[in-house]
Amino acid sequence: MAKSAVRIAFLGGLGEIGRNCMAIEQNERIIVVDAGLMFPEPNMYGIDIILPDFRWLRERRDRIDGIVLTHGHEDHTGALRYLVRDVNVPIYGSALTVGFAKHRLTEAKLAAGLTFIEVADGDRRRIGAFDVEFIPVTHSVPSAHALAIHTSVGIIVHSGDFKLDLTPIDGRRTDVARLAALGDEGVALLLGDSTNAEEPGFTASEATVGGALRRLFLERPNRRIVVGCFASHIHRVQQIIDVAIEQKRRVVLLGRSMESNVKLARKLNLLHVDASVFEDPANIDRYAPGEICVICTGSQGEPLAALSKLARGDGRFLQVGADDTVILSSHPIPGNEWSVGRVIDDLHRLHVEVIHSGHEPVHASGHARQGELRTLLQLVRPRSFIPIHGEYRHLVHHADLAVEMGVGSDHVWICEDGDVVEITEAGVRRDGTIPAGFHYIDGTAGDLDEAPLEDRRMLAEHGVVLVTAGIDKSTGTLVERARVTARGWFEGERETSVLEATAQAVNSALEDALAAGERSSEALNKIAQRTAGRLVGGKFRRQPVILPAITVI
Ligand SMILES: [Zn+2]
Ligand SMILES: [Zn+2]
Repeated sequence: MAKSAVRIAFLGGLGEIGRNCMAIEQNERIIVVDAGLMFPEPNMYGIDIILPDFRWLRERRDRIDGIVLTHGHEDHTGALRYLVRDVNVPIYGSALTVGFAKHRLTEAKLAAGLTFIEVADGDRRRIGAFDVEFIPVTHSVPSAHALAIHTSVGIIVHSGDFKLDLTPIDGRRTDVARLAALGDEGVALLLGDSTNAEEPGFTASEATVGGALRRLFLERPNRRIVVGCFASHIHRVQQIIDVAIEQKRRVVLLGRSMESNVKLARKLNLLHVDASVFEDPANIDRYAPGEICVICTGSQGEPLAALSKLARGDGRFLQVGADDTVILSSHPIPGNEWSVGRVIDDLHRLHVEVIHSGHEPVHASGHARQGELRTLLQLVRPRSFIPIHGEYRHLVHHADLAVEMGVGSDHVWICEDGDVVEITEAGVRRDGTIPAGFHYIDGTAGDLDEAPLEDRRMLAEHGVVLVTAGIDKSTGTLVERARVTARGWFEGERETSVLEATAQAVNSALEDALAAGERSSEALNKIAQRTAGRLVGGKFRRQPVILPAITVI
């Protein structure tokens, strides 16, 4: 009997770091793996976040049986609050993953009516047409999972975000034995995290960061130390707290997500610290600098986060200065380098000592490098391979590694957002595409497509030109001659003369049109816009936004 094919639709994360999301389909039933967001680049004016295009999923909402979350990072869970408005299905993940997601959805007042299903390491769950197994992996957030999706055409392994950390802080290692056993059974397809596929060697263990922090703290017994890191990086927070306690420092948490994540992690017994270690931020000044360790959010330069506020000098409880050392225990996500640079500069202006991963080993990546990627390929020995989670170059390098490790080159597929593949017992083949463009969210304006963003880019790069004139319809005459003004331009002699020449050209064009009997406001505005555009474009090779305002009365 022919078994029906499995299809995978990639909705995001292939060609960028962020907005990870895919749909897996068999017998008309679908599960979604991850629903993440991406942060905008500096030229995406006014855009707060970027989501996958959920239209394809929305149209199939009746066929979706569950959303499976691999781990609690925003690039895997941050778009949930947009997806669950239309797709209300059970959300699966580890207690921490689901706890983080639930907290964010509760804040957005969207959690009521949703079903969250916590899974333990090694659990297998029947979700719609699939049997989904949750395999522990090490990453920069606790309780992350790879997935083995058991289907009637074979096993699909999704690595999740992972590294092979042999000395993880919580002792919970990647379950390489299970991955190897799956390899023995036969894996039809491996989908692998490509973030560090360009990097040779092995990613340093998270435990190495603790050693670096201990030394830096020891060298600064009389300085207040402020450490910025991801609020979800519970193991990093654990190591910072451990070092602080060793040196008899009180621990102050700054930033809402830091407070709420620490609370949840303690409740789940993933962060081991006695409540008496924490000090209220309002009491910071009661202690000498050497008696305080602050752990705060904002290591990515987010303008509203605690660290940016400290750098701008408007921290509510703490003014940083020459007695302070700020340690950025992080690495900027692509797109955030500029904002992180600003925060570091601002801290220097306040005479703060700044230590970052560029010159001290105060950060370890959560993603596997080439040595670990090779190891995973060797454990799983998949028949086919598709690199996921990475910019295009990362996908290419990961594909090369797979071929090098023995996957047949005609069984390695580089896919991008929107691609669909079909998996049968015969292998993998491409099966068309679905819409998967960027979906922009502007905090004040709501959802945006590409058009207003293109206007914003033109406004920012080329400025705006306003063309005004007044026309008397009954006499067919210009009662107010054309005037052309610009905003966002240099105001030199050359610019002024071009604007004057443009006004004259618009005038004659309008007069010609009026003489020919044209009286429609719409037509006359178009003529003014076209004439001004041609002149400004010709003289300056720029395309400003041209706004005609020809009054016809
Ligand atoms: Zn991650
Ligand atoms: Zn990720």
